[in-house]
Amino acid sequence: MAHFLVIGAGLGGLATAHGLLRLGHSVQVYEAAPVLREVGAGLVLGANAMRALQQLGLHEAVRPHGSAVTSLKLFDQKGRLLQNADTSVFTRALGFDNVGIHRAALQQALLQELPTDTLILGKPFESFQQTATGVEAFFTDGTTTHADFLIGADGIRSRVRRQLLPTTEPRYAGYTCWRAVVEAAQLELPEGESGEVWGDQGRRFGYVPVGNGQVYWFACLNSPAPQNPKFRAFQVAELQHAFHSFPAPVPALLGLTRNEQVLWNDILDLKPLRQLAFGRVLLLGMQATLLRPTWARAPVWP
Ligand SMILES: Cc1cc2nc3c(=O)[nH]c(=O)nc-3n(C[C@H](O)[C@H](O)[C@H](O)COP(=O)(O)OP(=O)(O)OC[C@H]3O[C@@H](n4cnc5c(N)ncnc54)[C@H](O)[C@@H]3O)c2cc1C
Repeated sequence: MAHFLVIGAGLGGLATAHGLLRLGHSVQVYEAAPVLREVGAGLVLGANAMRALQQLGLHEAVRPHGSAVTSLKLFDQKGRLLQNADTSVFTRALGFDNVGIHRAALQQALLQELPTDTLILGKPFESFQQTATGVEAFFTDGTTTHADFLIGADGIRSRVRRQLLPTTEPRYAGYTCWRAVVEAAQLELPEGESGEVWGDQGRRFGYVPVGNGQVYWFACLNSPAPQNPKFRAFQVAELQHAFHSFPAPVPALLGLTRNEQVLWNDILDLKPLRQLAFGRVLLLGMQATLLRPTWARAPVWP
C-alpha cells in the first residue's frame, strides 16, 4: 500500500482518488478552491466513461443525476439535417447509456462517495520536490506534506505540469464560447436528442439534455484574439442577435436563458505531451493528452 497526494479536486482528481482507494492505497486530495461551488455547465459522459464509473463503483451514484443521450443531430443554419448520429450503438455495444449531466452534479456525486477526510479544501499547491523514496509537496500557506507519489490533476493551468514542463502553455483555439444550463421542459425536445447547428463564420450552437427537464447549451463564435472586450460584454440579447437566424430550438433555448446563467470562456487546448509520468509524479486529466493524431485532439474548456 502506498500513500498518494492528488492535486486538484476536479473530475479527474476525484475519480482518481476513488480508484486509488479501491486498490487499497491511502490518498489525500488537495484543492485550491475553499469550496466546490456549483460552477460549470454540462458535459456528456460517453458509454465508455459510464463503464469506467461502474468499474470505480460510482455508476449508481452518478447515473440518476443525468439523462440518456441517444442521438446527435447536426443541422446547417437553415435547419437542414446534415447528419443524424445514432449514439445508442455505443449503449448496445457496451451496456451503458451515454449521459448528459451538469458538471456540478457529477462533481458532487464523486465527492459524496469519498470518505470525508479525503479532501482538503482551500489548499493551493505551490511546488514539489521528489527523491528516490518519496515526494514533498509545498503549499502557498507555507505548509508541506509528504507521500510516496504525487498526481497532478490541477487542470489546464496545472502548477504541477509547469514545474515539470515550464514551456507548456495553453493555446487559444481561435473561438470563444458561451454556455448555460436552463429549465426547458416546456420545449418538449425529443427525448434523448442532442443537436448542433453549424452556421457560417464559425457560428456554432449545441444543446444536450442533462436531466430533470434541464438542457445544456453552448454557443461559439470565432474571434481572432482571446479576451475580446466586445464579447465580454455580450448578454443574452447579443447572443439572440448573433444566432437569430438559427433554427429551432436555438431561439427558444436562448429565450429561456437569464443573463446571470450564462458563462463565457475562450476555448483553449494544450499541445499534446510526450510524457505523463516523471518518476514519482504523474500528470492526469485535461492536461494529460498524449501526442497522437491531430484529428483526435478536442479543444477543452478553460
Ligand atoms: C470550474 C470549471 C467548470 C467547467 N465546466 C465545464 C463544462 O461546463 N463543460 C465541459 O465540458 N467541461 C467543463 N470543465 C472542464 C472539465 O471539467 C474538465 O475538462 C475535465 O473534467 C477534466 O478535468 P480535470 O480534473 O483534469 O481538471 P479540472 O476539472 O479543471 O479540475 C482541476 C482542479 O484543480 C484545482 N486546482 C488548480 N490549481 C490548483 C492548485 N495550484 N492547487 C490545488 N488545486 C488546484 C482547480 O480548482 C480544479 O478544481 C470545467 C472545468 C472547471 C474547472
